[in-house]
Amino acid sequence: MRVLVVGGAGYIGSHVVRALLDQKHEVAVYDNLSLGCRENLFPEARFVLGDILDAAALSAAMACGVDAVMHLAAFKAAGESMIHPEKYAVNNITGTINLLNAACEIGVRRLVFSSSAAVYGEPRYVPVDEAHPCNPVNFYGFTKLEIERLLEWYERLRGLRFASLRYFNAAGYDVLGRVRGLERHPANLLPVIMETAAGRRDCLEIFGDDYATEDGTGVRDYIHVNDLAGAHLLALEYVAQDRSLIVNLGSETGISVRAMLETARRLTGRTIPACVVARRPGDPPTLVASSKNARQVLGWRPKHSDAETLIASAWAAYQRR
Ligand code: UDP
Repeated sequence: MRVLVVGGAGYIGSHVVRALLDQKHEVAVYDNLSLGCRENLFPEARFVLGDILDAAALSAAMACGVDAVMHLAAFKAAGESMIHPEKYAVNNITGTINLLNAACEIGVRRLVFSSSAAVYGEPRYVPVDEAHPCNPVNFYGFTKLEIERLLEWYERLRGLRFASLRYFNAAGYDVLGRVRGLERHPANLLPVIMETAAGRRDCLEIFGDDYATEDGTGVRDYIHVNDLAGAHLLALEYVAQDRSLIVNLGSETGISVRAMLETARRLTGRTIPACVVARRPGDPPTLVASSKNARQVLGWRPKHSDAETLIASAWAAYQRR
């Protein structure tokens, strides 16, 4: 298929592009390189430098011949979204409306969208399945939920078929070492541990060790980015059969901050200094997915999402730098 990957130079986008190219799809990347980077571009994929706020540029990119769109372009820092909601409203929501309009105008009716577990908010039960109420506690999660609602309306009114993929905690790097760009200014646990191991930060701050979890630190469901990329391929096949879906993508396994840190210390052989600080507002104690639907409907099976592979693949990427 001819696939336009919007946000294809970013962290997850570049892994998705690599997986599409491996399956011999014809890929064009559309990215404004604000968070993505040139190093993440593959020579086999055509590159269009463009912004999702530029409706004309989006239409021009679609006009080159596109069978499906993968939409991964968004701001994603939950904390920042509470301080600068306007930025998230415009880029994530307005940008997506531009993209949907450009796609529908030209007759592209297959879309795979990067959603997030942030749509659920504070979990009322775990594992969290898709029937869990959606009540985002940060503006970022709200933008993802609004977009899902838009997708449902565009399906009803414009015949769009979509797969909305609710990622849990994306982590790790390409296990074959083909993605070269590291995320800039990361705030997520694993890259922060990596930067500390590499000596770029003095210490890992553990946001609270008094949660009602086994070792008192936060428990999350980490999903390897190659596994996420694999789910995108399956979702593309699914929408190509003229169907839509919303699914969770998680490993269904909880890993605590301390367990991640200890495994990183063992695998890297570095001390990785850490100190316990106050809880981060809005952080639930435990967030783990039920991915039963992705398993059953898409036939998806995570293969690389154990702590060792997550850390080893990330550490290899940091060591290449
Ligand atoms: N965390 C931490 N220190 C950090 C970053 C994260 O202790 O520097 C914890 C955070 O409180 C949570 C887990 O690691 O329990 C995962 O956080 P992350 O920001 O990676 O993802 P989130 O689950 O918030 O989307």
